Amino acid sequence: MKLPKETNRYCPKCKKVTSHKISQVKGGRKRGALTHGARRFTRKTQGYGGFPRPKPEKSSRFGIKTTKKIALMYTCKACKKSTLKKSGFRAKKIEWEAKE
Ligand SMILES: [Zn+2]
Repeated sequence: MKLPKETNRYCPKCKKVTSHKISQVKGGRKRGALTHGARRFTRKTQGYGGFPRPKPEKSSRFGIKTTKKIALMYTCKACKKSTLKKSGFRAKKIEWEAKE
């Protein structure tokens, strides 16, 4: 998938359309180890009963997708504020188009 390195986009800080630099970021926020789900998980895996859900390796649908959804960071050239945008498309690899 090819994308331009720069694009004109609306900047919420400048409140107008400015030139933005696009860069790819790894999506997903790192959550703390003690979220409610993590606490529930540790409680469930203790004692009888075992693993609360089937292991993903055994599931036939595990690893079925070879691409990932892409998150892009738009950095405003005027005020250097960057906004994250999670794209709706999937791609294996992002290539940057050469400047013309
Ligand atoms: Zn700006």
